[in-house]
Amino acid sequence: MLKSKTALVTGSTSGIGLAYARALAEQGANVVINGLGDPDQIEATRAGIEKDFGVRCVYSAANMLKPDEIATMVANAENEFDGLDILINNAGIQHVSPVEEFPIEKWDQIIAINLTSAFHSIRAAVPGMKKRRWGRIINTASAHALVASPYKSAYVAAKHGIAGLTKTVALELAEHGVTVNAICPAYVWTPLVEAQIPDTMKARNMTAEEVKRDVMLRAQPTKEFVTVEQVAALAIFLCSDAASAMTGSILPVDGGWTAQ
Ligand code: NAD
Repeated sequence: MLKSKTALVTGSTSGIGLAYARALAEQGANVVINGLGDPDQIEATRAGIEKDFGVRCVYSAANMLKPDEIATMVANAENEFDGLDILINNAGIQHVSPVEEFPIEKWDQIIAINLTSAFHSIRAAVPGMKKRRWGRIINTASAHALVASPYKSAYVAAKHGIAGLTKTVALELAEHGVTVNAICPAYVWTPLVEAQIPDTMKARNMTAEEVKRDVMLRAQPTKEFVTVEQVAALAIFLCSDAASAMTGSILPVDGGWTAQ
């Protein structure tokens, strides 16, 4: 379905981003992956995508904290593949702490990586998409783009922000063949979620099992973690022609969380 298209997924060395990258490659798209991690492991991931799906896959080490590196990453994708068709802004970090103790540098990093990096990549990718009159921009938001939880002030602020950015850019591009949507997963079992458990145990004085059941899945009526494949499947649908009328949508994949 996506043969001859090129996709860039920020934060795709693990978790949801890696699932997006593999699902796009499965559909025939060439993929630019990005993110932090062990170089050997990243190279194995990159080579694995090429081998498994017969597409080209390149890695960009751009740091989402650095606007110039983000712009260069998008420009390189444009040049190397003759245009960037699909942009998925997915890189994200989390920090859990009461607001009055929230480290200032953590607030700044979360806003920069989870929100501002998407502004920079969109800004760089839009001219090419407009020129070619086709594009798909997908932002990984969160159920926390729609509702809040305590101790996650920066994350919830950034995710609500990305919902606003999604809607605004969707309106700007509505007549240019470019759709812009946000996917809002609830708890997906990934390294990001696993890493929150110790801090939440401390903040709430709970065991790991209690954090999973009473905090993470408390608001998730299905009582099951979302899978990375379920999130990626929605992204693939959004890239299809069938989804060309969907733009500016903020789409939960949350086991019923935000229905409450
Ligand atoms: P993850 O930790 O597995 O992946 C995060 C990715 O972002 C990694 O590839 C990491 O290297 C990259 N990254 C982090 N800082 C970076 C930086 N400075 N520059 C470049 N890359 C950077 O986490 P995940 O759970 O797969 O999260 C992916 C996205 O999904 C995030 O935006 C997150 O907020 C969102 N999300 C996750 C869940 C969940 O339950 N896991 C739920 C809702 C939304």
